[in-house]
Amino acid sequence: MTAASAPHVHQPMFERIALIGIGLIGSSISHAARRAGLAKSIVGSARTPATVATALKLGIIDEGYASAREAADGADLVILCVPVGLCGPIAKEISPVLKPGAILTDVGSVKGSIVRDVAPHVPAGVHFVAGHPIAGTEQSGPESGFAELFDGRWCILTPEAGTDAAAVEKLKVFWQKLGSNVEIMAPDHHDLVLAITSHLPHLIAFNIVNTAAHLERVTDSEVIKFSAGGFRDFTRIAASDPVMWRDVFLNNKDAVLEMLGRFSEDLIALQRAIRFGDGDTLHKLFSDARSIRRGVIQAGQDTPAPNFGRTPAPATAKSGDEKA
Ligand code: NAP
Repeated sequence: MTAASAPHVHQPMFERIALIGIGLIGSSISHAARRAGLAKSIVGSARTPATVATALKLGIIDEGYASAREAADGADLVILCVPVGLCGPIAKEISPVLKPGAILTDVGSVKGSIVRDVAPHVPAGVHFVAGHPIAGTEQSGPESGFAELFDGRWCILTPEAGTDAAAVEKLKVFWQKLGSNVEIMAPDHHDLVLAITSHLPHLIAFNIVNTAAHLERVTDSEVIKFSAGGFRDFTRIAASDPVMWRDVFLNNKDAVLEMLGRFSEDLIALQRAIRFGDGDTLHKLFSDARSIRRGVIQAGQDTPAPNFGRTPAPATAKSGDEKA
C-alpha cells in the first residue's frame, strides 16, 4: 500500500507526555489529553507512592515513577504540575535527562518567579514555555481531576523573548485541544492580573473564614447554620490547598501587596460611607460591582443561573438557605 492510499492514521501530537505532579491539574490534563488523543503514552511522578498508585489505578498514567527524573526521561512534553515553589528545584533535577527538542512547561499560578527559577536549568535545544490554565476547583489529588476542567477557560502562556516560535505554537495548539482559549502574556503582567482576579480573592476568603472562626459573640455553629447568607461561598474558595496557596503568596509578593494596598483603600472608603450614612456612595459602588458580574457571565466564564445553578437544599436544611 502506498502512503497516498493508506487509510488516515491519527498521529498524536506527543509520543510521551510526562506529568510531574498528578493532582487536580495534572490528572485533568491527562483526562483531557486522552479525550483528544494527544499522546501515545502519559507517564508521571508524584511526591508519594500512594498518589502514583492511585493515578495508575485510575488510568491517568500508563507508567508511574518514584522520581521526576525518571518520569521526564525521554518525554517530548514535560509538564510541571507541582506547587509553585517546587518548579525550580524539579527543573534542576530533571535537566540532565531532558530530550533535545522537548517542550518543558508548567501550570503554576505565578509566572515571574517560575520563569526566573526554571529558565537557568533548561538545556540548549529544550524549549521552555511557562503556562497557567485559569481553571480549577478547591479540590486536590488525582481523584479530583476531570476532562472538562479546561473547556472554555483561558490558558495563559508566558514564553520569554527568543523562545522557539514553533514550540510556542505547538503548546498553544495542545492547550486548545485540551479545550482552552490561549493568550500569550509577559510573566510580570500575568502576575499583576492574577493578583487581582485570583490571589486577592483567595486571601480575602481565607481571612473572612478565619475572622468568623474567631468571633466571640457568634458561635461557630451559628456561622455554619446561617452560612447561606453569603459566607459559604467564601468557604469554598478557602478550602483550597494550603501548600499551593502558601507558595502563591510567597512568590507573587509585590503584585499581591500592590493590589492589597488598593483594596484596603477602597475598603476604608466603604467603611466611611457606612459610618456617615452615605447611601449614594454605597449604592453607586454596589451598582458598579453588579455590572462586573454581568460581564463575567457575558464572557462565558460563569453560569447565569441563580445561585450558581445550585439545586435547592433538601427540606430539612431549608431554614438557613435564604440569601441574607
Ligand atoms: P494538587 O492537587 O495538590 O497536586 C499537587 C501534586 O504535586 C501532587 O501530585 C503532589 O504529590 C505533587 N508533588 C508535591 N511535591 C512534589 C515533589 N517534590 N515531586 C513531585 N511531585 C510533587 O495541586 P494542583 O491543584 O494540581 O496544583 C498544581 C499546580 O497547579 C500548582 O502550581 C498550582 O499553582 C497550579 N494551579 C492550580 C489550580 C487549582 O485551582 N488548584 C489552578 C491553576 C493552576 P502527592 O500527591 O504525592 O503529594
